[in-house]
Amino acid sequence: QRAEWRKLREEPTVSTDGVHVELAANIGTPNDVAGVIDNGGEAVGLYRTEFLYMGRDKLPSEDVQYNAYKTVLEKMAGKPVVVRTLDIGGDKELPYLDLPKEMNPFLGFRAIRLCLDRQDIFRTQLRALLRASVHGDLRIMFPMIATLVEFRDAKALLEEERANLIGEGVAVADHIQLGIMVEIPSTAVLADQFAKEVDFFSIGTNDLIQYTMAADRMNERVSYLYQPYNPAILRLVDMVIKAAHKEGKWAGMCGEMAGDSVAIPLLLGLGLDEFSMSATSILPARSQISKLSRADMQELAAKALECGTAEEVVALVEAIQV
Ligand code: PEP
Ligand code: MG
Repeated sequence: QRAEWRKLREEPTVSTDGVHVELAANIGTPNDVAGVIDNGGEAVGLYRTEFLYMGRDKLPSEDVQYNAYKTVLEKMAGKPVVVRTLDIGGDKELPYLDLPKEMNPFLGFRAIRLCLDRQDIFRTQLRALLRASVHGDLRIMFPMIATLVEFRDAKALLEEERANLIGEGVAVADHIQLGIMVEIPSTAVLADQFAKEVDFFSIGTNDLIQYTMAADRMNERVSYLYQPYNPAILRLVDMVIKAAHKEGKWAGMCGEMAGDSVAIPLLLGLGLDEFSMSATSILPARSQISKLSRADMQELAAKALECGTAEEVVALVEAIQV
């Protein structure tokens, strides 16, 4: 099996009926890029920048960040790199920010909420990203977007920093795709409105499932409710993909679900354009997709959307697995 996967390293990801999808990798540091290339990744679909901020005793400077982003872009040699702006809070803490303890950290002051409040932190990251943008195909993505106003506010800060840099005579790429994580139900439900203003969506199922099912992703006792295959989740994913395509935008997924062999047939059928996963899942996923017909998976997905339970969905998928 391994030998069969290795052969797919340099191949595109194509279904039996000729539909191409992009298989990307999630990374946390520039050192992870070697594994992406070794496993035949076509892009970086999620660069979690939190690690730049963690494991040190103060905020990373603009130059430290610039160097990290530039390194990833250069190593990916022109392939797309989606960098997610700081997603701190919830399960990810930054001791030196000295944030007050919260009753519900996952529902609290985190990610884009913190960045829109602490503009000093956010602007530094945006400047570093804009400066790095000339070194490859950089795409920027905001985490935990709950409202269109948050997206517009974040985008306005990006545009301000772009203008500042150009004013300072610094080179910045002409067009940088700008997208959002869809990981809060309000955003999935309102995806048609977001799709008019963003360049792409990346569905963050790790959080989308916990917020939709009201089941803490870290709590064992409610893990039975953490159901990727629940038809409610599939319907949200379906809405997001349809909304993107209606506006000519692409939709990806960077939660764990994107690399899950039970979910992949369904996601292919729902029309997902980009699957971002841990690097080691890429070749198995490519092998799986190369044996599936997208037309058949569309039928499967349509049936799954009409199911009542996650168990029924799993039974449908298991019936087709060869
Ligand atoms: C997600 O929520 O699905 C996601 C990819 O982000 P993280 O796991 O970093 O919260
Ligand atoms: Mg998340």
